[in-house]
Amino acid sequence: MSFVLASSAYTNHFDVLILGAGIAGASVANAYLEKGLRVGVVDSCSGPAMQCSAHRNAITHPSLGRGRTRYQQLSLKAFELAAMRWGNQWKTRGVFHPAKLSNQDASRFRPHEISEKLMYLGIGPSLAKVLMPKDAKRLTGLHHPGVWFPSAGSLDLIEACKGLLKSRSNLHCFWNTPVFAMEWQQESWVLYDAQHNKIASATDLVLANALGARDLLKKQKLDLFLKPVRGQLNTFLIHKTSAWAKHLPKSALSGVGYCMPAEYVPDIQAYLWTVGSTYDEHQENKSPDAKSDQMNLEQAKALIHYFEGDEGALIKQSEFVGIRTVTKDRLPLIGALPILKNCYVVNALGSRGVLWSTLAAEVIPALSHPSAAAFARLARFGLSEDLLAAVAPARFFAGPLLGARASNSKPILPSGPSAK
Ligand SMILES: Cc1cc2nc3c(=O)[nH]c(=O)nc-3n(C[C@H](O)[C@H](O)[C@H](O)COP(=O)(O)OP(=O)(O)OC[C@H]3O[C@@H](n4cnc5c(N)ncnc54)[C@H](O)[C@@H]3O)c2cc1C
Repeated sequence: MSFVLASSAYTNHFDVLILGAGIAGASVANAYLEKGLRVGVVDSCSGPAMQCSAHRNAITHPSLGRGRTRYQQLSLKAFELAAMRWGNQWKTRGVFHPAKLSNQDASRFRPHEISEKLMYLGIGPSLAKVLMPKDAKRLTGLHHPGVWFPSAGSLDLIEACKGLLKSRSNLHCFWNTPVFAMEWQQESWVLYDAQHNKIASATDLVLANALGARDLLKKQKLDLFLKPVRGQLNTFLIHKTSAWAKHLPKSALSGVGYCMPAEYVPDIQAYLWTVGSTYDEHQENKSPDAKSDQMNLEQAKALIHYFEGDEGALIKQSEFVGIRTVTKDRLPLIGALPILKNCYVVNALGSRGVLWSTLAAEVIPALSHPSAAAFARLARFGLSEDLLAAVAPARFFAGPLLGARASNSKPILPSGPSAK
């Protein structure tokens, strides 16, 4: 077990303990640090973002669902927060969503209908622009109609987590520290290692440890219905003389899969292009596999509508494999655990790590340390109790398990500010 000690006045009791130093844990930890609270972060890895968040190309844009669902509305609010939070650190700027029409059918694209639909979804002209093929070609390299999100972008999650957890006097990070048990004792949460040695304690505990929460909560007789979903991205090398070179995108694309803009590397006179990703439910194997390589080759062709492209010209360079966590519905888990006092969860971020971690950084501190300012901020972003109920863990505990207690004993948001 190693500690990063920022002050000599270290005791292992904190205001808040965060379990997990991926983008979920790092984002929430940073929000508490900004409030001046003493924060302990515990992770079994030797540093931040070494599991699913070891991802250097996480794209972020508003969701274009069929209807105005709670998922679509929440992800839009989360996008507005994420663009504010991360916009000046986007690694690449702008994301294009090509219309799901073949090149031959592109004449069936109706820009006015799409604009109306965007307005209906609450996505105004400052967030999205409908592009005809000519303008799309100029901006994105793809001669195809679609929707351009100028303020969307991609984030390097490793750098983001490092920045969020950079050393400061009120932060202590426990690296190489697997947690095997959590116990509520004398109005505090205590975390233990495999030998049942105490690691640290705190008044509030945030579980941001992805699939690791399954085993810990099993001991508390709680099930969050977490499911692993393996994903693989591939980076391909394409020689500048290849026929592909004329088709490669200049911006990130999101559609049947997603890809980054192709990057020209003068030293090797070739492009590097990251494309993905696969979505294999119930799989936890982190080794790259050939089936996923092949799927990503096919996604590459489909994304840029270049079905006749020679697969042999895409030379595999490297890959990223991560295990996403999802739950029974598509929404994340962000909120208080109904039957565990002072215990909060940020989990099941699925393929939307940037959006949901940004939302969690607003919501979790507002729940544990309510204040008029925190509520006003949530209200300003249209984050109503009704919307936040959609992501609260309480949604899985209603009915026979807890009955009315699930919603009555611990509201999604407290009714008014109170000091803690
Ligand atoms: C192929 C792929 C492509 C993706 N693309 C995108 C994208 O384009 N945009 C986007 O926004 N998102 C994307 N995602 C999703 C994003 O990467 C994840 O949602 C996000 O990284 C999850 O973050 P996390 O903090 O919840 O989990 P993790 O990063 O896995 O962090 C959990 C941490 O908890 C620690 N831990 C667990 N159990 C314990 C324990 N018992 N004791 C101590 N430590 C413990 C782990 O060591 C780990 O560091 C993608 C994911 C994949 C796999």
